[in-house]
Amino acid sequence: MQLGRTTLSKFVIEQLRSMPDQNDLGALLIDVAAAVKTISAMVAKGALGGYLGALDSTNVQGEVQKKLDVLTNEAMLHHCEWGGQLAGLASEEMDEPWPIPDNYPRGRYLLVFDPLDGFSNSDINVSVGTIFSVLMRSTAGDAEMGDFLRPGNEQVAAGYAIYGPSTMMVLTMGRGTYGFTLDRESGNFILTHPDIRIPEDTREYAINTSNERFWEPPIQRYVAECKAGKTGVRGADFNMRWIASLVAEVHRILLRGGIFMYPKDSREPGKAGRLRLMYEANPMGMLIEQAGGAASTGRNRILDVAPEDLHQRVPVILGSKNEVERVERYYKEHEAGTDRPFVSPLFSDRNLFSNEPRT
Ligand code: MN
Ligand code: MN
Repeated sequence: MQLGRTTLSKFVIEQLRSMPDQNDLGALLIDVAAAVKTISAMVAKGALGGYLGALDSTNVQGEVQKKLDVLTNEAMLHHCEWGGQLAGLASEEMDEPWPIPDNYPRGRYLLVFDPLDGFSNSDINVSVGTIFSVLMRSTAGDAEMGDFLRPGNEQVAAGYAIYGPSTMMVLTMGRGTYGFTLDRESGNFILTHPDIRIPEDTREYAINTSNERFWEPPIQRYVAECKAGKTGVRGADFNMRWIASLVAEVHRILLRGGIFMYPKDSREPGKAGRLRLMYEANPMGMLIEQAGGAASTGRNRILDVAPEDLHQRVPVILGSKNEVERVERYYKEHEAGTDRPFVSPLFSDRNLFSNEPRT
């Protein structure tokens, strides 16, 4: 047992000393950490917990909810609703925001969360997570919809927990991104990854290539160039990763760099993407930016997207700064028509890269 290490509570309290207008945030984040410990214990039981397998109910996005989704959602609600810091909560798993029960005091913060991200992975013992975002209204009281529909650049804190071989919580309060590992013996989250910095360059990309034929041309171009490796315009070989768990992808990128893409595609033209702006893209975008990375829709900074709906989806391209900026440049070139020499390699027998501008 190492004494004197920085716990999550100590870290949060010390950071908040210089943020006097956020004095209730510490108690809220400590409640979130308590919920995360509960969820970690549930998830760790695996098949022995009796939580796996599908129920009949479906969530807002039309996905079948599993027992673990329902239980983890309740863990977040009930660990966080009581303390008097919140004006309301909203979850990926509920159609409408969750009001603070009558018997508890109201505060200024709003907690928005995805209680079990990557939940289809829980049946196969692959990492899952909890993602959360904290917004604020100017006064204490009951939150209305307009209080939730704020852009990600107004988040006062964001984070996730990852339930892998170890449980970690990764947090930002707008002054860097910090990682804490759960010491299961003491029950404390210990600061193990101070001031995480994402390498600006990477040779590792993550995207679900089974959707390739539906991607927009800038994404097809970017991935084709990665796949061409040393023989292509990039002049370097790339690796691909795909865990199908946003938390696990972002965690890998925070710790060793990389680019993750879930772009808009043409399968369902009405949908802007797959990931949720409020519960997934905004908190991850803040964590990534605070670690020196970038988070984009391809056309705009994610944190500047003005939400219109609690459950809206958004294209997500995040990770190492120089690669995300390259994808943004490909979108600009596509819109300007200057990428026309690029033709999807699926349909071209010409040398794909012969007319590429060199950079
Ligand atoms: Mn999710
Ligand atoms: Mn979820």
